[in-house]
Amino acid sequence: MRQHDLVVIGSGSGNSIIDSRFDGLDVALIEHGVFGGTCLNVGCIPTKMYVYPADVAEAVRHAGRYGIDASIDKVRWSDIRDRVFGRIDPISAGGREYRVSRSPNVTVYEGHARFTGHKELLVERTDGSGTDAVRADRIVVAAGSRPVIPEPIASSGVPFHTSDTIMRLDDLPEHVLIVGSGYIAAEFAHVFSALGARVSIVGRTRRLLRSQDETVAERFTAVAAERWDLHLGQQVVRASGSKGAVLLELTDGTALRGDVLLVATGRTPNGDRLDLDRTGLPTHPDGRIVVDEQQRTPVDGIFALGDVSSPFQLKHVANHESKVVAHNLLHPETPRTTDHRFVPSAVFTDPQIASVGLTEAECRAAGHDVAVKIQAFGDVAFGWAMEDTTGFCKLIADRATGRLLGAHIMGPYAATLIQPLIQAMSFGLGAREMATGQYWIHPALPEVVENALLGLDL
Ligand SMILES: Cc1cc2nc3c(=O)[nH]c(=O)nc-3n(C[C@H](O)[C@H](O)[C@H](O)COP(=O)(O)OP(=O)(O)OC[C@H]3O[C@@H](n4cnc5c(N)ncnc54)[C@H](O)[C@@H]3O)c2cc1C
Repeated sequence: MRQHDLVVIGSGSGNSIIDSRFDGLDVALIEHGVFGGTCLNVGCIPTKMYVYPADVAEAVRHAGRYGIDASIDKVRWSDIRDRVFGRIDPISAGGREYRVSRSPNVTVYEGHARFTGHKELLVERTDGSGTDAVRADRIVVAAGSRPVIPEPIASSGVPFHTSDTIMRLDDLPEHVLIVGSGYIAAEFAHVFSALGARVSIVGRTRRLLRSQDETVAERFTAVAAERWDLHLGQQVVRASGSKGAVLLELTDGTALRGDVLLVATGRTPNGDRLDLDRTGLPTHPDGRIVVDEQQRTPVDGIFALGDVSSPFQLKHVANHESKVVAHNLLHPETPRTTDHRFVPSAVFTDPQIASVGLTEAECRAAGHDVAVKIQAFGDVAFGWAMEDTTGFCKLIADRATGRLLGAHIMGPYAATLIQPLIQAMSFGLGAREMATGQYWIHPALPEVVENALLGLDL
């Protein structure tokens, strides 16, 4: 069994821990998949590289409203795909090469790791050539999460894709069936429909994006219903078919036929495939490894971060947690804590959605006396310029403190527009001070945020 100073499981956010401060340590990095993790290879980055051309296609399709007649001649799916992976694959390969050949203190084990005893691991090599036993006093579990495949699809034998595979399709499908109603479903629905495919969505709940603020979920579902074929409040009772011809039968008796099936019903942490009990690591009921605010597990010397332990399956959260872990590995005498107070997120669908803080229902359930303001994009000059009819900014503030409790934006550039609101909440700036204590560029889109702030009845 080879002894290392530090073992890191997972080359996503785990890999970024190992910077020059660790040069003096003998580090093992274990990865059983493609180097670089979810965000780079199958998550945030490739999806957004597809969303951008989808947004361009929608802009062309709707240019007539500005007096510009334009149409889409052709969507070159394989060129779009190759642009995405022509950029990403070399970055992944380069990251691997850097670790394997140019990081003298790092040993890369390419295989699946499982705990076999206290701080001991066995790595089953991906190429099938054998196993490696390793141990270390300090271990970081950064093993991420994977898509959940629900029944009856899982055991049906029907060919399906997840977000891991769908972006590599050879051709643009004619009709995509999407099972799931969360952000991954909403992003792919936008991509495929904007590029020319028909999209049907099957969701268990009555609204899409149900974890969003209720106004967002309701209005987004209404917009989506005009664009996509929605089957909400439904479940798949039977799935059948073969490559290119899939049939889903739903609880209400509907039979849906499509040529590609995408399953986007959530992600589960990968801890269940690590034999965590062999080293005494406990998990929450949902499978996340238990960590404290310093990212320490209850086993001294073992840390966890990112999707495998975090309640937020988001890359910016995993990055933040990896910085905390790196510091705490190096400076246990002055530990840092993670800041999960105001975690923002965005859904790069159409219209774009971004949020931070509590939903209105969560604010009321927590007993806050709240002021709520919903300001339409169409109320400000830039909204007129865009002819926007659905965008809005919803702010919820606490009357007792004058501070924002939640901010929810649906509309073009939502993920960009929300940043000053994240800043205000993170630094404790009052809503009134934020509105009146600075200039707001006229006639820019952030005026919708300014007006929403001014409209709060505090
Ligand atoms: C389609 C999609 C779109 C997304 N879009 C966004 C977005 O726009 N913004 C955002 O913030 N987040 C987004 N996310 C979420 C984001 O990608 C994840 O939260 C983030 O990548 C998690 O990082 P991580 O380091 O925890 O895990 P990962 O990056 O998944 O790294 C874990 C690594 O561990 C490896 N591994 C797992 N188990 C083992 C084992 N036993 N042995 C060896 N290796 C193992 C895996 O192969 C993987 O490479 C998206 C995710 C998906 C799927």
